[in-house]
Parts: sequence; C-alpha cells; structure tokens
Amino acid sequence: LYCDADLSQGLTVALGPGPAHKLRAVLRARVGDEVLLFNGRDGEWRATLTDLGKTKASAECQDQTRAQLAEPGPWLAFAPLKKDRLDMVVEKAVELGVERMIPVLTARTENRRLKMDRLLQQILDGAEQCERLTVPTLSEPIPLEKLAQVWPQGRVLLVAAERRDCTPLAEKLPSLTGPMGLLVGPEGGFEAQELDGLENLPISVFVNLGPRILRAETAAIAALAVMQALNGE
Ligand code: SAM
Repeated sequence: LYCDADLSQGLTVALGPGPAHKLRAVLRARVGDEVLLFNGRDGEWRATLTDLGKTKASAECQDQTRAQLAEPGPWLAFAPLKKDRLDMVVEKAVELGVERMIPVLTARTENRRLKMDRLLQQILDGAEQCERLTVPTLSEPIPLEKLAQVWPQGRVLLVAAERRDCTPLAEKLPSLTGPMGLLVGPEGGFEAQELDGLENLPISVFVNLGPRILRAETAAIAALAVMQALNGE
C-alpha cells in the first residue's frame, strides 16, 4: 500500500481516505492485520493496522521487508491520448518499469488538458499493483519542441516512427548502450516537420515497431516490452 509518510521501525503512520477505503472495502482488512507499506523512498515495511475507519486508518511499522533500491528504467515521452487509451499507456508504463513520463504536445495531439492528479493516482495504484518500490515521475506536459531541453544528452531518444525507413527496435537495441527513452506520437502520427526536427537531434534514434501501423498505446506498450525483454530494465 502506498503512503506518503516516512517509514521506519516503531513509527505509526496515518493513512488517508484512499488507502482506508482500499483496506476496508477491497482487502477486507481488520485492526491487527499486517499490511505492507511503501512510500517510494524507504523501501517496503511490514506494519500492523492500529486503526481502520471509513476515511482514515493508521498502522505501526514493524520491520523492513524490502530495501529501497534504485530502479533505473526507460523514460517515456508520449503525446497524450484520449482518456481510456491514456490510462492504459500510463498503467502499462508503470508495470514495464518506466522511470519518468513526459507528456508532449504535438501538432496532432488529441488531449491537451491532462488531469494530472488522476494520472498521479493511477501511477501510485500501478506501482502498488506491480509491487515496485519506486514511483515513476510524471512531468507537466511540454511542447514537442521543448523535449530536447529536458532530455539529458546521455540518454538515447528512441523515436517510434512507422513510416520512415528505419531499423526495427529489437535489431537496434543491442547496438545501443546507456540510459534510454521512447517517444511515441499521437493517434494521427507526427507531422513530417516534427519528424524532421526530431531527426536533427543528436540524441535521437528512429526505430520501427514492425510492418503494421499500431495504435499509439499499442506502440508504447510493445516498445517498452521489447526494451524490458532485451535490456532487462
Ligand atoms: N496516423 C499515422 C499514420 O497512419 O501514418 C499513424 C500514427 S500511429 C497510430 C501512432 C504512433 O504510434 C506513431 O506516431 C508512432 O510513434 C507509433 N507507431 C505506430 N505504429 C508504429 C510502427 N509500426 N513503428 C513505429 N512506430 C509506430
């Protein structure tokens, strides 16, 4: 269960309405039960529920069950899609180990007003569900032209491009080293001018994801799965 508070032996931590609801209604927990807590910083802790109400709960930390490890992973820059498809990208990106998500606004981006709180909650739920102890960060949306400014020089930017003559991702990956990230376009694709701009970046490597045009969410998930399989991240 994710909680915001610091975790260490003997500390009693307060859990808000979300975790309290999950404990009561979903996990059917009771006072005295053990729960596993993480906050993205202090590893995972076994804790005993000391109070469980409708809108709040508390738990006392007993012992650390997993140490906090750095979990470096790929970055994902993506043009925000409509609600359900966006939700899917965010959820699967958490499961596939993405470390940072950067929404980028391209000419054909469909969804320009993101509900950041909702997406952050989804990220926390996803981290809980797949039992990762780090919580991926989500940046505020930026225009595509600004991506190079926030993207580190040493991190390869894999641009998923379906109609440019470029190497399949799985073929390209073994020749690349160091940290990486993926950029996926909107449902309507990148404009030619945008692709030209990306091609001129020293960090970009264009990659293809196979012979068919994938929906944007499929492209993101498929590419991240290949990266995880080949790079182990
Ligand atoms: N409307 C575009 C077209 O027909 O040319 C298709 C865009 S596609 C639905 C959405 C995004 O997914 C693309 O911008 C690209 O980043 C990625 N994508 C989809 N299929 C791909 C493929 N086979 N290889 C690489 N990227 C792909």
